Formats: sequence, C-alpha cells, structure tokens
Amino acid sequence: MTPRPSTMDAPTFFDVHDPATGAVVGRYPIADATAVEAAVARAETAAVWWRALGFAGRARLLDRWRAEITRGRAELAHVVAAETGKPISDARLEIVMALEHLKWAARNAERVLGSRPVSPSLLTIDHACRLEYRPFGVVGVIGPWNYPVFTPLSSISFALAAGNTVVFKPSEYTPGVGVWLAQAFDRVTGERPILQTVTGDGATGAALCRSRVGKIGFTGSTETGKRVMAACAERLTPVLMECGGKDALLVAADADLGAAADAALWGGLANAGQTCLGVERIYVHTEVYDAFLTELLDRARDLRAGAAPAEIGPITMPKQLAVIRRHIEDAVARGATVLLGGPDAVRGQFVQPTILTDVPEDAAAVVEETFGPTLVVARVGSMDEAIEKVNATEYGLGATVFARRGGDAIADRLRAGGTSINAFVAHATVPGLPLGGVGASGFGRVHGPDGLREFTYAKATTRRRFPSPLPLTTFARGVRTDALIDRLVGVRHGRIG
Ligand code: NDP
Repeated sequence: MTPRPSTMDAPTFFDVHDPATGAVVGRYPIADATAVEAAVARAETAAVWWRALGFAGRARLLDRWRAEITRGRAELAHVVAAETGKPISDARLEIVMALEHLKWAARNAERVLGSRPVSPSLLTIDHACRLEYRPFGVVGVIGPWNYPVFTPLSSISFALAAGNTVVFKPSEYTPGVGVWLAQAFDRVTGERPILQTVTGDGATGAALCRSRVGKIGFTGSTETGKRVMAACAERLTPVLMECGGKDALLVAADADLGAAADAALWGGLANAGQTCLGVERIYVHTEVYDAFLTELLDRARDLRAGAAPAEIGPITMPKQLAVIRRHIEDAVARGATVLLGGPDAVRGQFVQPTILTDVPEDAAAVVEETFGPTLVVARVGSMDEAIEKVNATEYGLGATVFARRGGDAIADRLRAGGTSINAFVAHATVPGLPLGGVGASGFGRVHGPDGLREFTYAKATTRRRFPSPLPLTTFARGVRTDALIDRLVGVRHGRIG
C-alpha cells in the first residue's frame, strides 16, 4: 500500500487488484485516525435515531436493505469476484447465505433482546424484575477478505438489528464490497450514517479499535486478533473474536464414503481453501481408509485451479502463497506421500489441489492454518484416536463428522464451536445456530440468539412492589430478622447431602 498520509493531508488512496490478473479493479481512500473518529461521531448521532425506531422500525429498514442487496446481487457478486478472484457462482452463494442471516436477525431481535419479566427469589419476593438487552451505541466491525459479504454481515446484520449503528472496516483486499453494502444501506435510510464503511489498511482498523466504539466485532486471523485485543484494551472496549481454524473432517468405518469424499473436497478446496471453517485435515478409520482415498482421488483429479471457468480461483493474498508452499514442502521433507499436487502445485497466483498422506502430526501442515487448497489425510485405528488428534491443535472453530451411527457421540467429544454431521459446514448456515470458536479460534458468537446478544449489554431492573417482610439492606434490620434469615438459610441450603 501507499504510505500513510498525515491527518493534515488530503487522503491517500490505494489500489485494489484482481488477484487472478493483477489488473487494478478499484481505488479507495485510506481513512486515517481523524477520518475514523469522524465516522464514529456521525454514527453516535445516528444511533439515537436508529434506536428510537424500535425493533419493528429497524426490522422494516433491514428488510428493505435485504431487498436492495437482493436486487443488486449480480453486481455485488461481480465486485466480490473481481476483488477476491473467486468464481462468480461462489460469490453468489455467499450472498444468499448472508441474506438468510440478515432476515433472521431482523425477525428475531425483539424476541431475543426485548424486555421480559424475571421471577424474583424468595428473599427478594417484594420486587418486580425485568431484563432487557441494550445496544452499545456504535459497533466497529473489522472484516476479512475471504468471504467479504457473508463474514462481515454476520456481525453487521446482528449489530444493526440489536439497535447499534455500525462503522465497518473491510479488508484492504475487498474495500469495494464494503462500500457497495454501505451504499445499498444509504439508499434505504436516506443517507443517514447507520452503516458506514471506512476503507484503508491495518492502521485504519487499529484506529477503529482505539475510537469510541462500544464494541469491536473482529473476524480475521488469530495473530491480528491479538493486536486488535491489545488496542481495544486501552479503552476496555469489549471484543468479539472470530479467528482462524484448522478444521478436521472425521470419517467413521460406517460412513457414506462418497458423501464424505464430496464434502471433504468442497470443504477443503472451495474458495481455494481460503475458508476459516475449511477442511484442512481428514482422519479416516483404518477399515475404510483405502476405499475413502479412492473416492477422494477419483473426484479430485478433475478439479483445476485457474482463471474462470475453473472450479478453483486464485490465492487472494499474495503473501499466503509462501505459507502454502512452506507447509507442502515441510510435509514432503518430513516423509509425506503426495497423492495429488505437491510442491509444484504452487504456480503464480494459483495452487492446484494437493492431497498429502503420512504427514507427521506435529508438521506445520497439520497444526498451522494453511489457507490453501490442500488436504492432509491420516489413517486412525479408532474414532477415539481421531477425536484425540482433532482436539490436539490450539484451534477449535468447527468440525465435520461422517458416520451412519454414533455421529452425535463423536461430535459431542470434539472441542469446537460447532460440528456438522454428514454435511460440511451446515451449522454455519442455519440462522438460528451460533457460530464461533474456542481457543485460538476466538470467542463470542455471531448468528442466532447468541449473535444478537453479542452486540448488546444485559440490563437488569427491579421495582419494589410492597414493603419487604424481611428487610435486609437496612441498618434498621434487627436481631429477629437475622435469626429468621439464619433459620431460613439452614432450611433452604443446609439439608443437602
Ligand atoms: P487478517 O487478520 O489479516 O485481517 C483481518 C482484518 O483485520 C482486515 O480487515 C485487516 O485489514 C484488519 N487488520 C489488520 N491489522 C490490524 C490491526 N492492527 N488492527 C485492526 N485491524 C487490523 O485476516 P484476513 O483478512 O487475511 O482473513 C483471513 C483470516 O480470517 C483467516 O485466519 C481466517 O481463518 C479468518 N476468518 C475467520 C472466520 C470466522 O468466522 N472465525 C471467518 C472468515 C475468516 P487489512 O486487510 O486492511 O490489513
């Protein structure tokens, strides 16, 4: 990127390149700290209006935004494809998924977040109690480039439905997508700054973390996530961390091998493997290992990375090519068998599908996020062994299990934010289910009721309805009350065991 301007200068611009061809496909300003602060200040003012609309009023405008995105989906898909290099049909698919979540957030916000009565306890019987979930005001969303519609909208839709305004910092690789989404929102709100996009690089994101936002919703790599947390710590700004993964697919002895192979290929190679929930490791029961490999290779041989209409697009981020090459070369140097692709698969911006076996469990290709179209397949003697190996990494984002019987029992023992049985990534596409990780994959949730609550704080309110028969919080509390409470406590809590 071009050098950063001082705040006194006119904004500096940066170019966006089509990763497949290198052609310039866009030019956007780099927002510095002053520009970010100004966007947040506008969002604070707009938040008053947005909040006053109430759940129903916001849902109406979010529905209109959804219709606006739907009508413009072909154009939006072209922006996504131009900036990421992914096939246009994949770009369309992520828009469809994002629309489903947007609809769910708008429809369910009041049910999940609205005020509700809560029963008091015996000692607080004199109070009427209620709970509601209130918006922070302004939420900052920092997004990645790999699914530049689906991923940021998972935070943006839920934050907006909860009553926040949003300042969005898209990846420097996909700023046009962020600008398109905000412009579509402007068309339904008459340009009120409910959703603003600030373009720029990592420093723009850091400025957003240090601004007066009430929360940061971050999606990106674990390493950047740590920097985001450090910046947010300066103001004690809460953060949602949707970070990287090293997801595995497990194949039990009774699995449908054709379906498992199909899911493994799509899960591992779609979007050129640049998927947080992408399949990077496969553990196969020894009884079906050879048969599974045959199914996998039969299907993989016809897949090609290249310019459209190839099934697999380019690697979007040039520096990721070195990571993919290192993982393959390291595995081969440590004795891996190359069944498809291999070190020569990395050519220019494209990586041909690569399938490796006999890779040591501590190799980079098994423990680090590769983010390329590579699969490491390992034979296991039992599903217990598979579970142990899956759980051995620091990451814990998602997992896929293929088993005709006992899939739930396997899923329950996996340390992951979500597991899909007999399908790849289904749990991320069901709007009512939460999505997120544990360990190095982050914390907090998008989607579902948890995804709405993520962008709110819980507010408790009580109202005394009548004088308490047992006044506790007063200096007027007498010896009789103390004795009565002591007896009550003994009866309520001391009779166990
Ligand atoms: P990065 O971590 O490189 O960047 C993510 C975002 O953070 C970008 O907008 C980036 O801006 C911004 N950023 C960079 N530095 C800073 C900083 N110091 N302060 C604030 N913001 C900063 O991730 P990628 O964009 O490469 O995305 C790929 C990663 O995202 C993978 O690890 C993937 O697993 C993960 N991911 C996780 C998902 C989940 O749901 N858990 C979903 C999708 C992806 P810029 O690009 O301009 O540098």
